[in-house]
Amino acid sequence: MKSPSYIGRFAPTPSGYLHFGSLVAALASYLDARAAGGKWLMRIEDLDPPREVDGAQSAILNTLERYGFEWDGQLVRQSERHEAYQEVINRWFSHGLAYACTCSRKQLEEFCGVYPGFCRDAGHSPENAAIRIRVPELEYRFTDRVQGQFDQHLGREVGDFIIRRRDGLYAYQLAVVLDDAWQGVTDIVRGADLLDSTPRQLYLQELLGLPQPRYLHVPLITQPDGHKLGKSYRSPPLPADQANALLLRALRALGQPAPDELKSANATEVLSWGVAHWNSESIPSVGTLEEARID
Ligand code: GLU
Ligand code: ZN
Repeated sequence: MKSPSYIGRFAPTPSGYLHFGSLVAALASYLDARAAGGKWLMRIEDLDPPREVDGAQSAILNTLERYGFEWDGQLVRQSERHEAYQEVINRWFSHGLAYACTCSRKQLEEFCGVYPGFCRDAGHSPENAAIRIRVPELEYRFTDRVQGQFDQHLGREVGDFIIRRRDGLYAYQLAVVLDDAWQGVTDIVRGADLLDSTPRQLYLQELLGLPQPRYLHVPLITQPDGHKLGKSYRSPPLPADQANALLLRALRALGQPAPDELKSANATEVLSWGVAHWNSESIPSVGTLEEARID
């Protein structure tokens, strides 16, 4: 079977309910995939059970269904993929590409998020230690479909980064790269908060000899007070009974000129309009302001 030339995905983390910002990201990835005649997959990024909110997984999936989204194939959960992550870590560890780090948060405080390499050659055992991957003194660069060219010097701006935490939890950066490749994802459409994670992911793809997907980072939705709408901030969950109104607002946040007539359409009809009229080139690169209250 010929593999489709477009495979997209939505990959929510169940550390909170779906909010307006995640609806915008879901909608963009869905419309971009469907307008290209591609597949749209669903993956639950449940890497961090302690931060998971009870019932969030099913609430997210129910909301997406109520909003008319239909995904292709089997739902994938990262909690079922630990073996694949560990296998790669073992390989990198045995080649000396990954190493154990025992630094405390306090020791790293003054380095402002750039790991200074203290444990690089210490030869610590991986038990009860974080695992870091060595990064080269190189700049990683890509061209985002909305944000344009983005580059980051991994050595200077990030440093060797964590791929498995000290408590044994796998890091997002590693899991996302392995799973996107495993699911055959060709196009990653997600929120711009992940723009500066992308160079790390390009580097891991290079280490693994994986093809580089296309990227489209949609603008973040911020509140009038400048807060990002998201899990770290109290954002309201999406009301199930206002699917069409919120889909319309999400379309407009993506620069798609949804006509007022759609106000009387149902969610599925709004999505169909979106697919038929999708123009990724009119997505603004900076976010719009959204009231936190939805009424
Ligand atoms: N799970 C991430 C989130 O909910 C998205 C990951 C991605 O799209 O690469 O923010
Ligand atoms: Zn260390």
